[in-house]
Amino acid sequence: MPDHDVLVVGAGPAGSVAAAEAKRAAPELDVLLIERDPFVGTPVRCAEGVGDPGLREFADPDGAPWAARKITRVIILAPDDTEVKVAWSDVAWILDRTRFDAALAAQAAAEGVEVQVATEAVGMGRTADGRWAMRLRTSSGEETVRAHVVIGADGVETMVGRWAGLDTRVPARDMESCAQYVLDGIDFDADAIYLQFGDHIAPGGYAWLFPKSERSANVGLGIVALKSDGRNAREYLDEWIARRYAGGTRTGYTVGGVIVHHTLKRTHTDGVMICGDAAHMVNPLSGGGIVNAMKSGRLAGRAAAAAIRAGDTSQARLASYHQAWMDLLGEAHLKYYRIKQALADLDDAFFNGLARTVNGIPSHKRTLGRVFAHALVRHPQLIPVAARFFV
Ligand SMILES: Cc1cc2nc3c(=O)[nH]c(=O)nc-3n(C[C@H](O)[C@H](O)[C@H](O)COP(=O)(O)OP(=O)(O)OC[C@H]3O[C@@H](n4cnc5c(N)ncnc54)[C@H](O)[C@@H]3O)c2cc1C
Repeated sequence: MPDHDVLVVGAGPAGSVAAAEAKRAAPELDVLLIERDPFVGTPVRCAEGVGDPGLREFADPDGAPWAARKITRVIILAPDDTEVKVAWSDVAWILDRTRFDAALAAQAAAEGVEVQVATEAVGMGRTADGRWAMRLRTSSGEETVRAHVVIGADGVETMVGRWAGLDTRVPARDMESCAQYVLDGIDFDADAIYLQFGDHIAPGGYAWLFPKSERSANVGLGIVALKSDGRNAREYLDEWIARRYAGGTRTGYTVGGVIVHHTLKRTHTDGVMICGDAAHMVNPLSGGGIVNAMKSGRLAGRAAAAAIRAGDTSQARLASYHQAWMDLLGEAHLKYYRIKQALADLDDAFFNGLARTVNGIPSHKRTLGRVFAHALVRHPQLIPVAARFFV
């Protein structure tokens, strides 16, 4: 049975960064990164938007072939189509995930990580000596490999977490079903991302347009099925597109789930850590998870290297990974989650009113603090939302 020090399951942003970091932190370790799909980065199930500062911690977007578009504005549409323009102090980017994910995996390989595609983890159990044995399926059959530490970076449908006995269940109200087209030949401000909220547009979620080029964009939405009127995400999306972007050519279609929950109570056990979407490390307000995945992958990779070097891969030792994540972003996500719950009680009429209040502030003075202060005075319904931020 082949032995590895670290086995990383899933070559998304979390897995590639975790594998690269483990190898960088302890070059003597044997690190294997496996990916179920035949090509890293394909299929794309993502709107591909990321903030500049978080991205730059891992890769330089200037002139990179995987950076599709620079974004400098956000246009928020209230349920009644009132438009609110907000300048973004930090630039954002729309990625080409096919190339970006492949570039991260190539970076891991350059560090000395063994990358194996078309290799699916199909089962996992403990060995007599306390390591993990993972059954892998490839086109040439099944094999079993052993590892001191397994990092589960296997996305929303994580099996590694379940096999390790972690509670990875998602409350139905915190699971968004998304549908997205690539739409060509439509008109929009190509330096801006568009977000629209509304119970009749995207119940429990929001609709988005993220530009890929001057006239091509990812156009999609996410809904919480429990709040829908019986239609699925694609039906809501078709209606939104018919109203706003009729005439565009649909050159791509994808569906996917986004977990808008908070970090799992436990993301580790003896010899196992899970990170990224697998551990629900997504911003529950925005649904953004790419940078979070990379940040958690970095922590998991470093924790794996340190634990193996110390000869202690126990749950107690790996608890430092969970704690480091909670300190970095997990506690903040818990606050955002509470705000999300409080916002869910507000209706479309409230958001239409809020949009008009914000538009009453001169655009050059629309800082987040000022918007919030104005909004609190004019819309006392926001007070419980603000209160949730501090509990
Ligand atoms: C429609 C949609 C739009 C989104 N838009 C954005 C956005 O604009 N910005 C943003 O920040 N986030 C967005 N997200 C979320 C973002 O895509 C994820 O948070 C991010 O990809 C998480 O990275 P990850 O590495 O944890 O998981 P993933 O990127 O899902 O990677 C997991 C990998 O594991 C592999 N895998 C799974 N099981 C196995 C197995 N058993 N064996 C081997 N390999 C396995 C999968 O094939 C996959 O490659 C969106 C999500 C959806 C669905």
